[in-house]
Amino acid sequence: MAAYAYETHEYDVVVVGAGGAGLRATLGMAEQGLRTACVTKVFPTRSHTVAAQGGIAASLGNMGPDSWQWHMFDTVKGSDWLGDMDTMEYVAREAPKAVYELEHYGVPFSRTEDGKIYQRPFGGHTTEYGEGVPVQRVCAAADRTGHAMLHTLYGQSLKNNAEFFIEYFALDLIMSDDGKCQGLVAWKLDDGTLHVFNAKMVVLATGGYGRAYFNCTSAHTCTGDGGGMVARAGLPLQDMEFVQFHPTGIFGPGMLITEGARGEGGYLTNSQGERFMERYAPTFKDLASRDVVSRCMTLEIREGRGVGPNKDHIHLNLSHLPPELLAERLPGISESAKIFAGVDVTKQPIPVLPTVHYNMGGVPTNYWGEVLNPTEAEPDAVVPGLMAVGEAACASLHGANRLGANSLIDLVVLGRAASIRAGKVVDAAAPNPVLNTASIDASLARFDALRHAKGSIATADLRLEMQRAMQDNAAVFRTEKVLAEGVELMTAIAGKMSDLKVTDRSLIWNSDLMETLELTNLMPNALATITGAAARKESRGAHAHEDYPERDDKNWRKHTIARVTGAKVDLSYRPVHTEPLTSLADGGIDPKMIAPKKRVY
Ligand SMILES: Cc1cc2nc3c(=O)[nH]c(=O)nc-3n(C[C@H](O)[C@H](O)[C@H](O)COP(=O)(O)OP(=O)(O)OC[C@H]3O[C@@H](n4cnc5c(N)ncnc54)[C@H](O)[C@@H]3O)c2cc1C
Repeated sequence: MAAYAYETHEYDVVVVGAGGAGLRATLGMAEQGLRTACVTKVFPTRSHTVAAQGGIAASLGNMGPDSWQWHMFDTVKGSDWLGDMDTMEYVAREAPKAVYELEHYGVPFSRTEDGKIYQRPFGGHTTEYGEGVPVQRVCAAADRTGHAMLHTLYGQSLKNNAEFFIEYFALDLIMSDDGKCQGLVAWKLDDGTLHVFNAKMVVLATGGYGRAYFNCTSAHTCTGDGGGMVARAGLPLQDMEFVQFHPTGIFGPGMLITEGARGEGGYLTNSQGERFMERYAPTFKDLASRDVVSRCMTLEIREGRGVGPNKDHIHLNLSHLPPELLAERLPGISESAKIFAGVDVTKQPIPVLPTVHYNMGGVPTNYWGEVLNPTEAEPDAVVPGLMAVGEAACASLHGANRLGANSLIDLVVLGRAASIRAGKVVDAAAPNPVLNTASIDASLARFDALRHAKGSIATADLRLEMQRAMQDNAAVFRTEKVLAEGVELMTAIAGKMSDLKVTDRSLIWNSDLMETLELTNLMPNALATITGAAARKESRGAHAHEDYPERDDKNWRKHTIARVTGAKVDLSYRPVHTEPLTSLADGGIDPKMIAPKKRVY
């Protein structure tokens, strides 16, 4: 192996990722005076959060009655009773505070006539514990909410003296022999130098792994790097079989058309021009939960009522809405429809298809963001020195299915919670850890081996094989046979990782090597997804198993824990937290309201 020199940096906290979650955590850490670095492979405001359109959920009640209890109930029901009650209560309760905080930091929210934050309806968000009408709960800055949040949080982080390491690619965690995280190794993309970050706390905020699939709404950078690093450190991933398909990706290119489009009054039709959602979800219709709408669309297409020459997609209609409203509330998606589907939304429907959009699974954490390494005796055992937040994590706010607008609120509430917790457990006066050099050497050796890989299969080709296998074998509907085939296929594909071919050996702007490193991260995420799905013999949330169409709370109301080594996945399970934080007597939610029941919209 070539010898690699590296520069060492010492911080109290190192956050990996500068999306909404990473920036909110960075800001919170820096505000408390912790020496904080944020390492990111793309410029902060290019993180995938920038693409979030629809908005951020919080029960402000600006447009009508609402309460955190109703928000919590909707989240519990949306999760199909797989979410952890403590996390769900914490987020629903803290959400209004977090949105006002964003407002005060400077996020330019859309406004009502009387100057309050404007809120729109969104799928699965209701009143009266699901018995009332849809609620207007989703705060938005037009259809560019994520964009506004990122710019504001980046500015605030700089103001508080957080230090940014931009276009640094985190390779691996540095772990001590007794299982503590001590920092990470990173590669600076623009000059090829290597860097070691020594930290008392590492926070993974690396986002989702949508790119494990062929068709997805997420950016090319969403490659599950945090999950990959965690798997290589011998730590587990949780609930990976739950992958959200968004009902309205543009047919073909997959760009997202926000659920806000249906929130503002848009609706879906089949080849007969029928508003078919009225048949499946009589109460909430087009605003039923995402997994439900995606399945109904798939059924319509299967039964021959898809639109287009091949009857293989569905129409989203907005042309009945006033052009002024489209221009004011949905300008971004009007533009996307024009560019990517050649459609004028004021006159024509948009061709859409369910598209991979969000990963409910991720690195298991508690609601303080502390990473868990569950054992049978201690299902909530914490890994010292390591946190995870945002889409990379599984706190489990979303359980088996995430409600729209509940991710942005997850980022800021739990990003903030992680910084509160770090303020308690990180001792700024204490010396930094003595680094385990064996762990650093192992990372550099892995890097060097990939850089000089001279096998027979190009990274792009193997990635495509993986994406196609995941798209075909872990889709909206799943069967025992297709999943078993998928596990076999993916095991064979992962087996070819040792035969990769990298052609560019340089260290500066080597996109071939970077994509190869990303593939080593996508692979464990994909393997855990398909293996967890094949094992789960029930249907719950986004996991729709045709051979087991019912939810089975007795046997399966539990989190899947997946440990991935090479192409091998070991599964175990961990109990769901079924108790909320606050008792009814102390002002908490009525336990009767959140007891499992059938999920209908
Ligand atoms: C098109 C689209 C629209 C959406 N709209 C909404 C919405 O309206 N409301 C809502 O609630 N949710 C929405 N979501 C979901 C939500 O936006 C995401 O779940 C969320 O933004 C993820 O944020 P994050 O901070 O976890 O990660 P990201 O924003 O994906 O950021 C990841 C960060 O990690 C860094 N990183 C990753 N790997 C490495 C590495 N190896 N080394 C260094 N840095 C690394 C990247 O540079 C980046 O800064 C949407 C998602 C998409 C794709």
